Amino acid sequence: MEKHYDITVIGSGPGGYIAAIRSAQLGFKTAIIEKYKSYGGTCLNVGCIPSKYLLEGSKFYYKIINESNPYGIKSDNTFIDLSTMDYNKNKLIQKMSNGINFLLKKHNIDIYNGIGSFIDDKTLKINKDTYSNTKIISKNTIIATGSKPRYIPSVNIDKKLIVTSAEALNIKQIYKDIVIIGGGAIGIELASIYARLGSKVTIIEYFDNILPSIDNDISNIMQSILIKNLDIKFIFKCNIEKAVSKGNHVEIVICNDKNQRIIINADYCIIAIGRSPYIKNLQIENINLKLDNNFIKVNKNYETNVKGIYAIGDVIGGNMLAHKSEMEGTLVAEIIHGNKPFFDYKNIPNIVYTWPEIAIIGISEKELKYQNHNYRKSISLFAHNGKANASNETNGQLKVLSDYQTDEILGVQIIGPNASDIISSAISAMTFSASSEDIKYMCFPHPTYSEIFRESCVNLNK
Ligand SMILES: Cc1cc2nc3c(=O)[nH]c(=O)nc-3n(C[C@H](O)[C@H](O)[C@H](O)COP(=O)(O)OP(=O)(O)OC[C@H]3O[C@@H](n4cnc5c(N)ncnc54)[C@H](O)[C@@H]3O)c2cc1C
Repeated sequence: MEKHYDITVIGSGPGGYIAAIRSAQLGFKTAIIEKYKSYGGTCLNVGCIPSKYLLEGSKFYYKIINESNPYGIKSDNTFIDLSTMDYNKNKLIQKMSNGINFLLKKHNIDIYNGIGSFIDDKTLKINKDTYSNTKIISKNTIIATGSKPRYIPSVNIDKKLIVTSAEALNIKQIYKDIVIIGGGAIGIELASIYARLGSKVTIIEYFDNILPSIDNDISNIMQSILIKNLDIKFIFKCNIEKAVSKGNHVEIVICNDKNQRIIINADYCIIAIGRSPYIKNLQIENINLKLDNNFIKVNKNYETNVKGIYAIGDVIGGNMLAHKSEMEGTLVAEIIHGNKPFFDYKNIPNIVYTWPEIAIIGISEKELKYQNHNYRKSISLFAHNGKANASNETNGQLKVLSDYQTDEILGVQIIGPNASDIISSAISAMTFSASSEDIKYMCFPHPTYSEIFRESCVNLNK
């Protein structure tokens, strides 16, 4: 049986399902193919949503025990029931996956559950008995197959004691000693969860600081907060030689920059060294698809070297973030429709959901220095913000960077409470090329954390 479509999307992550819905809204006959029964991809099933659920739960727990006294709250008998947290996290994933299913059906999108692969550039098959006689003939195909955790060749991930972020999000017990390999966003979010729940966490990082892409003033503040509040230990400039599960513990062998070999024992080891594009099973050899460092190579219209085959999201690289995939999902459908949407990649925000949170957008100060770009800078402290003081959340700062001559805002970096929400003002401002003076004449509600953005802009215009 042949099924004919204008657009077929492979993958139902934030890139894929948004691309499918936008395609259907634009009048295309659309299908989506998803390998797993649960829709939503990495983000919903083993990424953004479960990690944020656990971050929120562990933050509640930590704050009740450690930070509720100023409000007269006594927390002597507080305990956490991990099975309830885990059960509710899974229930949430199911609810949101059902929501995606509902939206796809509401837009009359045909859903195929199975692994999609190319027979040729216009024909796809699905590896499931139910579809053994079905061929999908599609004028256009959008590949949105996402990414998988990156592995260290010398480390055997047994998924019991040596795990990736996916397994680490199923918390069944509180291990005494945990080693996390990788001090990027995922590594320090997981470190925060486990440390708040009572584990002693050590982060091992190849570079000489955490969050290497963020300005050092911000990452240094984060590091000292993680040490002070959560007693997290950091080991920098180290390579992992091996990690071996010894039955009831893990032995990790690292090598530092002085070529010294160090053995570390832990109860649990999480590998969080980044993610790789996922193209397995697509049978791209049947269409001669070009790759760039294993990512699918696309032009500015997200079209691959094969006409009518597009790719978006983690599988094409860049910022591997859900909102970047979503944006590309919208853009690609509109481009296929013939629209000419404009999107500026420098305005993609990047968030780290620790507490306090980090949120950044635009060009960093280290990049401006590297470019010899003349800039102005203002830093405001949460210690001077009314809402932060009322909430006992005075850690952190907001930094605004603007062009020296035009005053256009070039970048904003925040470490502080609700930074992930505050950054939205900066996103709007930068999308419309606002200057810091423009923000000075905007009225922000008081008392709010977001006032700190205006305060910083006012300080740039004294
Ligand atoms: C622990 C963790 C926390 C994260 N937190 C955040 C966060 O807070 N904010 C943020 O922006 N990003 C976060 N991310 C990153 C985010 O999850 C990804 O950037 C996002 O999911 C990428 O979306 P995507 O649609 O490109 O791919 P994916 O979400 O990876 O979806 C790809 C889909 O394609 C399917 N698929 C693959 N091959 C086939 C095939 N051949 N046939 C059929 N289906 C196939 C897969 O099963 C999957 O469902 C996090 C990631 C992790 C691991």
